[in-house]
Formats: sequence, structure tokens, C-alpha cells
Amino acid sequence: MGQLVTIDSNLDTNISAPPPVKHYQAYRPRPFTRAERETTTLLFGGLTWKHERLMQGALHNLKYNAEPLPNIAREDLDAGKELIDVGACCPTIFTTGNLVNYLKKKVDVYGKEETNKKYIYLTAGACGPCRFGQYHESYSMALDGLGLRDFRLFLLAQDELDQGETGGGGLDINVSLSLGLIWSILCGDVITDLEYATRPYEVNPGQTDAVLKDCVEYMYAVFNDRPDHGKKLGSVAWHLYTNYFTNALKEVRKKWDTIEVDRTRVKARVKITGEFWLQTHEGEGNYNIKKWLEAEDSEVVPPPVAVWLHYLMHPIMRQMEKRHSTSKHPKRDELILKAVERLYVATYNRFRKALGSIPNELPDQVELRDLAEPYYHFELRGGEGHMLIGKALYYYHHKKAHMICELSPYSCMPNTMSIGSMANVIGKYPDLLYAPIEVKGDAEVHALSRCQMILTEAKKRAQSEFEEVLTKTGLTVEAIHEYEKRHPELRRATYKVPHKGYSGTSANYVLHLAQDRGLARA
Ligand code: SF4
Repeated sequence: MGQLVTIDSNLDTNISAPPPVKHYQAYRPRPFTRAERETTTLLFGGLTWKHERLMQGALHNLKYNAEPLPNIAREDLDAGKELIDVGACCPTIFTTGNLVNYLKKKVDVYGKEETNKKYIYLTAGACGPCRFGQYHESYSMALDGLGLRDFRLFLLAQDELDQGETGGGGLDINVSLSLGLIWSILCGDVITDLEYATRPYEVNPGQTDAVLKDCVEYMYAVFNDRPDHGKKLGSVAWHLYTNYFTNALKEVRKKWDTIEVDRTRVKARVKITGEFWLQTHEGEGNYNIKKWLEAEDSEVVPPPVAVWLHYLMHPIMRQMEKRHSTSKHPKRDELILKAVERLYVATYNRFRKALGSIPNELPDQVELRDLAEPYYHFELRGGEGHMLIGKALYYYHHKKAHMICELSPYSCMPNTMSIGSMANVIGKYPDLLYAPIEVKGDAEVHALSRCQMILTEAKKRAQSEFEEVLTKTGLTVEAIHEYEKRHPELRRATYKVPHKGYSGTSANYVLHLAQDRGLARA
């Protein structure tokens, strides 16, 4: 039976159409054309002033206008908090605020339109489970808030040397540019290692910093004058086999020779680990903790950026080993990658050797993975992954530091996981001195006092191992200083003290004098 349907003629048939759906679109910069290169400045940041100055040399060499952002300051935290989402981790807040504060000043001088034209921000891009893959989204959110929607941000992928002309042809990410940047980072690393191994023992206060400035300016010129060997294979071969950089580092060593040190001063050796940005940074972003540790009678073992670049190679190598790759020739690719790794480590070692092998060697990535494996799976990516556990155990087992200071950003997911796993590690190795420091940017006293609690114990250990060696060898500090007068090379900052099984430099130094230089008790 059919149903009778009646239509109410009073119904309003004039229903308006729903508004069009506005889909989310990821940030995409306006093009940066080749014609704009001469009038546009590339901004970058995130490392130490030394690394950034050398990177600037590599960029100037390729005729880019390039300028590092000013070092992070406390006000950057406030500016970042105002403009990005509240759950962001502290490095994101600091670096976003840093860019924002810089651009605000430029807007005051040039206005918004000119600032958009004159500057570009270049940053490392990544994907992965932590916020590092979304930094640029935070930047674009903050720029929106500033009314600089048209400002251009470009991402440099970390795993491709040759990315070609990007976003309009103004930026050509070729092999020459990528290797220039990587080599400047490696040189920045070894010089930084030398700096931290010297300053705590310098006899004339301020001398290390003065020589350091001179050396960094010298190395800037070396990168700025780098000869052109093309954009592809010629450039790869030249970077790998030239003596250009090692000769320059030997000049740095000569300048460093002038610094007089006293290695009988007992210092606690503190290895810095933690989240990439926070551990690398030198400034208010991490409460100037490295400077503070030195003022508290410590020798800081800084974290080289090179370890992170080395770490990035290993997940790809594991994919190849397990044939989890779409490559048609996984075996061949695996062998190529292993050869690249060997060349990378060899290059780092050549740079170390040019500085008298005083900078620390890179830890073996497989050893880091194996040390961490019972506590933290190496396939858990994000942040520094298993390396935080691996490094703590590496420095502990090899007796290369008295304590580990792990810098953890507030609201960092990977670091929270690693600190949880470290509880298990400490259960197994209760004498491992480990200070996990949460950094929010505005709780300095709390963070430093936590560090001090562990540092007090580390200093006691440094002192007692020094006394143990003096007793064992029968030497005295006075006898050592008398001997040094006859052998002035021992007082040079470039004199290499071999590792003799102790964590502290002074204990190793005394044992070296007794065992290798024949200094005997009176
Ligand atoms: S590692 Fe932590 S602090 Fe660093 S970007 Fe990722 S979530 Fe943020």
C-alpha cells in the first residue's frame, strides 16, 4: 500500500549551503629566487657561536649572505611562550622566541614588508616521534602571531647531501654546501673539545677564551676561502682527501701552544649528555651550566655534534642489514654506507690528530647501542634515543668521567623515557653518578642545586683518586712542579695526557709522569 506524503508549503526552502571545508595545509614558504640571493640574508642558529661562525664562513664562501641569530637569552623564553602552544618543549620555545625577538627588531627598522624580503630562516628538518619534526610549524605559528605570515622558512633535510635548488632556486643545497657545513661543524666540535680540556687548567685566567676567539676567526677565514671543486664528486673527493683543513687545524694548535696550564689542579670530570639542542647550547637556554660547572671546579666533557650525525647513519644501516629497504641493491648500499661511516670517523680522527689528539674520540655507535640495549631499545627513535643510556654507561665503564649531567628539557618526551630507564641502570650500577637536570628556562636555582648534590660526590672522587696516585707513585705536587720547570712542554695546553685508567685528568697526569716519563720519588 502506498503512503500519502503531504508537503507543508510553509517550509523554508531557502536553506543556505554549508561553508566550504577549509583543509589544513602545512606551511609552505614563498619562493626564494636566484635573483634575490644577493639581497637576502639567510639566518640560522641552534649550535654554539664557534660552530655558527665557521658555518657562516662556509656559506659566505658560496656567496650567500648569512648571519647566525644572536645567542639565546632569557627574554626569548618569554617571547616564545607568548606565541606558540603551551605544551611545546623548552628548546622549541627558546628557539622560536629567539627568531621572533630578532625579527621584531628588524621590523622596527625596516617594516614588515622589507623584513619579509630581506631575511630567510634556514633550519634543520626531520621527521620522527618528537617535536623536532614540527619546529617549523611552531615558527610559522609564531610568525603568524607577529603578522609575518609571508616570512620564509626553509628546511635542510639532515640525511641528503644533494637536495638541489630549493623553493625557487635561491638556495642550492648541493654537495659543496652540505660538506662545507658538515666540515665546519666537525672543526667546531674538535676546537670546542680542546677549549673545554684547557680552560679549567689555564694558569692565566682568560687566556683560553682569547686564543679561542683568535682561532675561530682564523678558521672562519679558512672556510670562507675554501677552494671551489664543483658541486658533485670533485667536491666529495677534495673534502675527503685534502690537507687544507688539517693544515689549518695545525695552525690552531700552534696558537694553542702559547697557553700555559697546570694539570695538578684536581677537577671533577663531568660528561654532558641530554637532548641535542640543550646539551650543545652554551648560554641562558641551559642556565649556562657548562660555565657554572667550570666555576665549580669541574672539567666539562662537551657533546660533539658529530656524535649526532654519526647516530643518524645507523638506522639506515640497520634497515639495509635486515633487508628492510626498497633498494634493489641493499647489500651494495649497505657496503657503501659502511664505507661512508669509516670515512666520516677517519675524517674526524684526522681533525683530532691535527690538534694533538686532545679532543675526545667519537664513541663507537654499536657499543653505545649494545650498552643501552638491556634498558632502552635502539629502535625507539626520537630525541637522542638510546644514546643517552649508552653514553652514560660508556663514560662510566671506560672511566672517562666522574659523573654524567643529563640536560632534559621540560616536556621532552624522549628524555622523560630515558630518565625512566636510567632508574633501572642506577639500580644495577649504584655508584654511577648521574644528575638528570630538568631545564624549564626559569628554574635555575632548583636545577643547579640538584646538579651540585651529585657534583659534591664527584669532586670527592676526583680528589681521592688523585691522592691515591700520589701515594702509589710517591710523588708530590711540589716535585711535579720542579720537574715541569725542566720540561716546559708539560705545561703547554697541547701536551697530550694519555688515559691511564682514571676518570680525572690530574690523576692520569701524575701516573703518566711516573710511568712514561720516569719521574720517580725523591
Ligand atoms: S628531543 Fe625533546 S626537547 Fe628536543 S625537540 Fe624532541 S621533544 Fe623537543
